[in-house]
Amino acid sequence: MSPTFIKLAYIVSAILFIFGLKFMAHPRTAVKGNRFGAAGMGLAVFVTLFSSGISGYGLIFLGAVVGIAIGYYLATSVEMTGMPELVALFNGMGGAASVLVAGAELLRSQAAHANGANLSSTDALIAAALTGVIGAVTFWGSLIAWGKLAELPQLKKPITLPNHQMVNAGLAIATFFLAWFCVGAGGSFGWYFVMAIAASALGVLLVTPIGGADMPVVIALLNSYSGLAASATGFVINNSVLIISGALVGASGLILTQIMCKAMNRSLTNVLFGKIEAPSGDGPDADEMYATIRRTSPDDVAMILDTAQRVVIVPGYGMAVAQAQHATRDLANLLNANGATVEYAIHPVAGRMPGHMNVLLAEADVPYEQLLEMDDINPTLGTVDVAIVLGANDVVNPSARNDPSSPIAGMPIIDVDKARTVVVIKRSLSPGFAGIPNPLFALDNTLMLFSDGKKAIMDISSAMKEL
Ligand code: NDP
Repeated sequence: MSPTFIKLAYIVSAILFIFGLKFMAHPRTAVKGNRFGAAGMGLAVFVTLFSSGISGYGLIFLGAVVGIAIGYYLATSVEMTGMPELVALFNGMGGAASVLVAGAELLRSQAAHANGANLSSTDALIAAALTGVIGAVTFWGSLIAWGKLAELPQLKKPITLPNHQMVNAGLAIATFFLAWFCVGAGGSFGWYFVMAIAASALGVLLVTPIGGADMPVVIALLNSYSGLAASATGFVINNSVLIISGALVGASGLILTQIMCKAMNRSLTNVLFGKIEAPSGDGPDADEMYATIRRTSPDDVAMILDTAQRVVIVPGYGMAVAQAQHATRDLANLLNANGATVEYAIHPVAGRMPGHMNVLLAEADVPYEQLLEMDDINPTLGTVDVAIVLGANDVVNPSARNDPSSPIAGMPIIDVDKARTVVVIKRSLSPGFAGIPNPLFALDNTLMLFSDGKKAIMDISSAMKEL
């Protein structure tokens, strides 16, 4: 392949990535965006492989077959609720791949030097060290994030060492000096290896103290790190398309991090340094708070809905667990036929990943116009007749607004408590992801319908049909 052809192909790949990202910004075009991204990556991999002068492709072919099989199996078998864990693992794999490529390049350049070739340039060595650091932090940080999302008992609660921030600072300084020694020694693999171990410890300790409610920010940030690691790898092996695609992932991950920080009211510095308040046992007592809750039944909810003019549905993680999106769309159709307007209020961190609710509702063919962002719907919630909270908890918890000592204080929420009647559908009084009680359940205008989300919605629909 001629160098001009290779460069042209890389430019086409980069354009496909950029259009892919643009299309992914809207649910209607997201699938097309994914295909553009995949096509760009396919082209980049193909051109890189067949322009690199590799003598035997057997091992690469074998690796590709195994990788494709694992990737295909994971992507097609994963439940919607397991998607964030999968994203965390993918981020981690990106980081690990970067560490291995940079390490292999150092070994190659050392061997070449032993045979009389010049050492790699200082720029390339700095890029290799950076790759090792960011890649190792990403890999181990992502594994811990995966464990937290998978709710492994050992990782569920925030874990902090005595003087945790000092230990992290010490590790960061040690990693810096080890990287320095690695570069100073002409890309010594020994120093690189020790540096990667220090960075791995840093990756683990950066994420362990972070509580459940802050995981979305961490996932977005690690996604950005995996892009930066890939970009740095591009400098190590002198591959422009890797630099571009890594930079795109790094930048988009960082933008997403900022959006998520805003949605959860955390500053990026707090997230980076893990200064997160874990839910403490001193919060309000759930039993006392819930002493006055009022239960309701699907029949009663159907009667209330029968006279409602404006209904807002607030979906949360429980809708994903119950797979209630199709039943919910059917109920909305019934309500529409009954003369009511129905809208969905979408919180940016509802569910377990950015866009979780949008994806589920799009899957059930809910018209996009009915999906309203939190900031758009909040000012009008006072005029809503019935707000149905379907498997959502933290994102409608008024403590965020009213209780400065709450772990989620300041997090913007959907103000459902302002609606005339609130119907909360969940199976029990157990808390949401942040692990804190929710005073919404005990308000005078709130009715609790204890049931699986899908069953409750289907029962309400049946009851409405019989009215
Ligand atoms: P929550 O985790 O706060 O609450 C979900 C509720 O759903 C639970 O209280 C649970 O109650 C209920 N539920 C579970 N299964 C069912 C079911 N089958 N039928 C009915 N209800 C069910 O979810 P939210 O969406 O309100 O908030 C998201 C939380 O997750 C936030 O704290 C956010 O920070 C965090 N998070 C968000 C991520 C993101 O990127 N969006 C990623 C990681 C975490 P019960 O058991 O009683 O049924």
